[in-house]
Amino acid sequence: MTAIPQALGALRDNLACRGRLGLGLIEGGPAQLERLLALGAPPPAPPATLDLQEPSLEGLALALADCRRCPLHQGRRQVVFGDGPAGAGLMLIGEAPGAQEDKEGLPFVGPAGQLLERMLAAVGLKRAEVYITNLVKCRPPGNRDPQPLEAAACRPFLEAQVRAVAPRVICALGRPASQALLDSDAPISALRGRWHDFQGIPLLPTFHPAFLLRDPARKSEAYRDLKDLARALGQTPA
Ligand code: SF4
Repeated sequence: MTAIPQALGALRDNLACRGRLGLGLIEGGPAQLERLLALGAPPPAPPATLDLQEPSLEGLALALADCRRCPLHQGRRQVVFGDGPAGAGLMLIGEAPGAQEDKEGLPFVGPAGQLLERMLAAVGLKRAEVYITNLVKCRPPGNRDPQPLEAAACRPFLEAQVRAVAPRVICALGRPASQALLDSDAPISALRGRWHDFQGIPLLPTFHPAFLLRDPARKSEAYRDLKDLARALGQTPA
């Protein structure tokens, strides 16, 4: 497993040497080299000064404000850390910020976020009372799914964020978040509607609201999931 990072390290040394000798580097220059290194190297460790075991949301947000641990930092306008109170009973986790979120710095503020708010309200939950975030905190180019190495680089911060919020239940929104959090390759249609476990916290996957905008016929299943979540929080949804 160490062969690829070692080979890339040797490549970096070799290219640095070529640079000093005035020889050409590689197409794309140092930025492309860093992308290659990011593909092969393990994710950089979080800063030693950051307490990931007993974190605060403010400390985590500060630590990520200028994060460059994965290639997603190259295309973002800003890090979209999360939104909501520590101690929220429900934590919602999607896959990644989109264009509107990247612009505003808040998760789920575009049309999908508006649908999510309406669906939460329909089962008696207010957005201001829940905590919302994503697997990765920076917008992937073209709104593609986050790649495994990007999700791995961001994972220690997400896990620390879960510890900081300490929700009673978690809802994974959509296939990429559900599969990553449950370490599963099962389709979302098989994962949703059943309770799972994420680090000792009950987790219920459901459809991503962006998917429901494209396929409104699946909303009834998502409502069933949200009602289950509301009941787990002690509410009695209509
Ligand atoms: S996605 Fe996460 S790990 Fe990657 S640059 Fe953004 S904050 Fe850092």
